[in-house]
Amino acid sequence: MSSQNLSYHETRSAICEHGRSLLADDLTTGTGGNLSARLDEDHVAISPSGIPYEDIEPSDVPVVRTDGTVVEGDVTPSTELPMHLEVYEQRPDVGGVVHTHSPYATTFASLGEAIPASHYLLAFTGSEVPVAEYETHATQALGDAAVEALGEDYNATLLRNHGVLTADGSLAEAYTVALMVEYCARIHYQARAIGDPEILPDDEIDRLQGKLDSYGQ
Ligand SMILES: [Zn+2]
Repeated sequence: MSSQNLSYHETRSAICEHGRSLLADDLTTGTGGNLSARLDEDHVAISPSGIPYEDIEPSDVPVVRTDGTVVEGDVTPSTELPMHLEVYEQRPDVGGVVHTHSPYATTFASLGEAIPASHYLLAFTGSEVPVAEYETHATQALGDAAVEALGEDYNATLLRNHGVLTADGSLAEAYTVALMVEYCARIHYQARAIGDPEILPDDEIDRLQGKLDSYGQ
């Protein structure tokens, strides 16, 4: 294998592994959700459409040019490809994108409510998880709405009446953010169910973000 094919293979394998983790970590069911990783300036690898995560092999994972043309892989890319490509185009710092319908975070998406920092781990994504305007799934408009909500600084947004999008330096990091968003959403939901959760102030979020930058390294 050439070095380019080898690095492509590693990234396509990572898409398979993180796809299976989506099921194991209860972030999705069936074929729901999708994930992608930037391969180089012009190419992205993205999970295929409609294949159970258990059955996806690295050679199935579509390699797509940034204009949406499939250059490798025999199967159709995820229907949310336009949203993933829009994030890579507008956020050069992003190397991986994860989209789920994880249940607690999606509960807040259906309320149209941002998730505030009632738990310190929310600092992984910013001062809150904002909410993007509602747009129909699998459209360019949904990608535009998600990018607008992410802005320059957020690593996650809720997609109104739909789910969650996370974007970070690598696929592994975007996956961690997806886990954190769901965890913080669950804690916030539970806290709200029996009381009035306290929200951490912005200066503490700033301090936490300095510490979390080294988390897991
Ligand atoms: Zn979706």
